[in-house]
Amino acid sequence: MTRNSTARRAEQAEDFSLVPASLAPVDRKASDKVLVEKARALRKLVAEHSASVDAEARFPKEAFDALRKERLLGIMIPEALGGPEASLTAIAEICSLLAQNCASTGMIYAMHQIKVSSLVTHAQDAEWHRGFMRRIASEQLLLGSATTEGGGVGGDLRSSNCGVDQQGTIFQLRKEGCLISYGIESDSILITARRSPDAPPSDQVMAVMTRDQYTLERTQVWNTLGMRGTCSDNFTFEGAAPVEQIIPAPFADIAAQSMLAHAHLLWAATWYGIAADAVGRAEAFVRAEARRRPGITPPGALRLAELLTLLQRMKALIVAGIERYESAKADPDELSSIGFVVAMNSIKVSASQGLCEIVQLAFLICGIHGYRNDSPHSLGRHMRDAMSTPIMINNDRILGNTSNLLAVYKHDPSLVR
Ligand SMILES: Cc1cc2nc3c(=O)[nH]c(=O)nc-3n(C[C@H](O)[C@H](O)[C@H](O)COP(=O)(O)OP(=O)(O)OC[C@H]3O[C@@H](n4cnc5c(N)ncnc54)[C@H](O)[C@@H]3O)c2cc1C
Repeated sequence: MTRNSTARRAEQAEDFSLVPASLAPVDRKASDKVLVEKARALRKLVAEHSASVDAEARFPKEAFDALRKERLLGIMIPEALGGPEASLTAIAEICSLLAQNCASTGMIYAMHQIKVSSLVTHAQDAEWHRGFMRRIASEQLLLGSATTEGGGVGGDLRSSNCGVDQQGTIFQLRKEGCLISYGIESDSILITARRSPDAPPSDQVMAVMTRDQYTLERTQVWNTLGMRGTCSDNFTFEGAAPVEQIIPAPFADIAAQSMLAHAHLLWAATWYGIAADAVGRAEAFVRAEARRRPGITPPGALRLAELLTLLQRMKALIVAGIERYESAKADPDELSSIGFVVAMNSIKVSASQGLCEIVQLAFLICGIHGYRNDSPHSLGRHMRDAMSTPIMINNDRILGNTSNLLAVYKHDPSLVR
């Protein structure tokens, strides 16, 4: 360890309790484990408020107050900037743990971490952003995302109608038709726009704007089938901020090199959490049936065995994806390679389809008890939340993007990479 990093670690020790007072190197696995255990301890609280979050389509305030208190919002921030620098594996596990108890909470946590990943991966050399990352760790700021836009852009995050209007050291930005999950509760929003009003739609930048720098005019309220607690209302966003708050890397690089992987993997981890809870309910149902009629194998047992194979397949998909990202993350060429893009796109499509399939099969096992909203085996919420996953950046759009790459890509048939 260099003298500088030792001194930095000593400074940070006051800010973050997980950084040990000793100067011994941090045991990454041990500190990850502490973070995951903290999230595990919140399961009961998250579950207790889950039904009202869904019924009232309200932000899961209790869960996020607790996540803040446990300092779990800034865990991706590097040690050098006062965070515990948790691994993607640990963050994915926390997304899954939260989603097992409230899918909206898991989804919001995942979205926030995806936004943090853009800063951690692309803005560590920029002074303003280094200071902002320190604030995320010390103040446990919650970050929202505004990529979706009206006027025909929709979920095509690589294109913007609006542009950054720079006047001296300040820029102004107005973006219409933004669907921003937990927009009102966010402390800051990462927003995409053209580099200038005259730039081509794909020449985009991503800027960080803090709550005091923008207004959100709500144009449509979120009253949806599922993921109701994400409060993904439609807004017109309008704000102004110093130009140094624009992330220096082009948004095309951010999208290709880090956002794609973080979004697809952390969403998939959240969806795995929903799937795992659905399987848990089907399992409890089959056990209860077995107890009711001792000596007779319940008819749902065979389906349960099938369900476990699907869950294992989903888990293997996500774990392999995280491992692939972890081993590629220091290599921008690999991260933007066609093979990597195809792999991450495939994980998103496959995990969302896998979740829908798992919930449907769990329904068959639990029967009317799964269909009822007032049963311990109820799967209605799982089904409603699961239906958001193929349309959250539509699978057809993603498959369309992949298909455009196939003229120059041949799949890799080996089992090892
Ligand atoms: C729970 C939830 C939370 C969200 N939170 C946020 C957020 O915080 N911030 C944010 O910016 N956005 C958010 N979104 C919006 C999301 O990112 C997408 O913009 C939204 O899901 C619509 O994207 P789309 O590509 O399906 O639809 P659109 O772009 O509106 O396209 C409409 C439909 O046309 C078809 N289509 C369009 N283009 C193609 C193509 N190239 N190939 C094939 N078919 C195509 C697809 O069927 C598609 O569904 C959220 C969405 C959900 C469901």
